[in-house]
Amino acid sequence: MGVVVQKFGGSSVKNAERLFEAARKAIRAKHAGHQVIVVVSAQGSTTDDLIAKAAEISSSPSAREMDMLLATGEQISIALTALAIQELGEKAISFTGSQIGIVTDSTHRKARIKSIDTRRLGEALDSGHIVVVAGFQGIDEQGDISTLGRGGSDTTAVAVAAAMKQAGKDVQCEIFTDVDGVYTTDPRIVPDARKIDAISYDEMLEMASMGAGVMHSRSIEFAKKYDVPLMVRNAASDAVGTWIVGESRWMGEIPVCGVALAADEARITLEGVPDQPGVSHKVFAALAGANIAVDMIGQSIGAGGKATIGFTVINAELERTKKVLAPIVGELGATLNVTERVSKVSVVGAGMRTVSGVAERMFGALAADGVNLKMITTGDIKISVLIEEDATAAEIEASEPASKEKIKKAHEESKKAVRGRKALRAVHSAFALARPRKGAGLPTDAVTTSDYPTRPAPLVSSDSSARAQAVARLDGMEDVLVSGVHLNVDAGRITVFDLPDVPGNCAKVFDAVAGGGILVDMIVQNITGPQRAELSFTVPRADLDRAESLTRTLLAGIDSGCRVEADADIAVLYVLGVGMRTHTGVARTMFGALAGQGINIEMINTSEVCIGVVVDRRHGERALAALAAAFGLA
Ligand code: ASP
Ligand code: MG
Repeated sequence: MGVVVQKFGGSSVKNAERLFEAARKAIRAKHAGHQVIVVVSAQGSTTDDLIAKAAEISSSPSAREMDMLLATGEQISIALTALAIQELGEKAISFTGSQIGIVTDSTHRKARIKSIDTRRLGEALDSGHIVVVAGFQGIDEQGDISTLGRGGSDTTAVAVAAAMKQAGKDVQCEIFTDVDGVYTTDPRIVPDARKIDAISYDEMLEMASMGAGVMHSRSIEFAKKYDVPLMVRNAASDAVGTWIVGESRWMGEIPVCGVALAADEARITLEGVPDQPGVSHKVFAALAGANIAVDMIGQSIGAGGKATIGFTVINAELERTKKVLAPIVGELGATLNVTERVSKVSVVGAGMRTVSGVAERMFGALAADGVNLKMITTGDIKISVLIEEDATAAEIEASEPASKEKIKKAHEESKKAVRGRKALRAVHSAFALARPRKGAGLPTDAVTTSDYPTRPAPLVSSDSSARAQAVARLDGMEDVLVSGVHLNVDAGRITVFDLPDVPGNCAKVFDAVAGGGILVDMIVQNITGPQRAELSFTVPRADLDRAESLTRTLLAGIDSGCRVEADADIAVLYVLGVGMRTHTGVARTMFGALAGQGINIEMINTSEVCIGVVVDRRHGERALAALAAAFGLA
């Protein structure tokens, strides 16, 4: 008999009617032969109301007392849910976080789960109860009540499922919410977005981090780490939602499963940083030390001994970021440039690993729309581009006679991410994501639509055994997990210096390269000077010469000022893991390990599940050993 964990959010338990609906769903799962655990949030706006109550008393309430207060919201919900189930004739029992031993660290208001004791849960299930567990809360090692951070009930649900799985049960977790599932993109911006039937953990992580998420990255990281199949579904219907699972074979055939927009980021470029070992480490260690999560990082290789490091942070962290970097910028003799409003548009898909031409199609669609790409980075299964929202004075000038009205309008639009939204629509349609496909409207042999959802199988996961071993070594369940480091010495790199910074140039480059059937792996583009960009990308070394001549021929026709270089002597190192998004510091450890060996980093690329760097090929093996040691994988 399998265990089903069902999570209901605040709106799904907000009144008696909704509570009974939730209770009925739990009972139905039980009657289908499962053991059922229900995790609930506080009713409706209870948590906000409690925060407001505290604010009437204190402007800086202590975190410990806030946790004591906030945890009461979920305590009300669990008792009411258990009563509703009992009222409908089934056995139910409710537990607070402390009663079932959800032990966290002592960071009140954003505690992380360390362990869960499944003994009491198991006993209650075995005696035929539906078990109702309070979301969002736990207890620290001193016995004080803690909470996990806003929206933390998803994490509780996945964590409880993971703990039951560790205890030997077959588990799945259903997240009931107010949408039907995960869509190919935000349906509020693109009305013909399509519901996805199944998506991999990694794809979902990449999407969630860009605001496409109906779920927090943190709970998906948890699910991936413990391989807990998740389903996001609508609490107001019985429709089958979206499975979030380990990668199935058919997913590898889908180059792009979704596109996402993040419109709350700012871009920072450090120009003229010395191209020497330890420089990136200095920058990112300082940011990690201040607990600032860096999102998109792209370091270009630079010329004349100088490199450019570009990255994004969320707008709310911009001021702090500038402050932290000020002394370092001075020390490095670099210049710091900030673009306050940028939109990041990303395409995500597991099939991108093996299908060529994704970058070309994406950049082509954006070029056709006249969108200028200010930065490009790629991950294993995503490509992100950055678009400036604030129209520059020059652009306003060029479009029509400059007027105050015009400038005001441009700034208003920048707040609404008008360009980002437009780009999102263009990319969604370029990949025909509204059309049914396997795993989104069309059946795969794995996705069934039977009365009670069975999950996609068989699941193939490239690093599952390495991951299981690494998980076993973790101290706390939510600790960051680095599951592997890899070295690729079969790649070469093309760099274009001084590419004119106008829409369409990157599209042309990748169009030419894809035309030769060459699979492009890592791409980094940064703006390196006035009106000039530097574009680097890696290709299989066997294709390097061809890629070089295709690029040269193309660029000869564009601008005689740009220079093309091919480098066959590179090594690409990847660190793979889970939790890189929500824990700062993985990049710091990685760059620190390389700096410690005096190895210069020539290119950097990051995503949710992977950080990649390029170094000189001579240092490849030594770099690999240093990374393995730094992450305890040696
Ligand atoms: N009640 C908590 C909150 O509102 C936890 C949750 O809803 O998941 O943040
Ligand atoms: Mg809530």
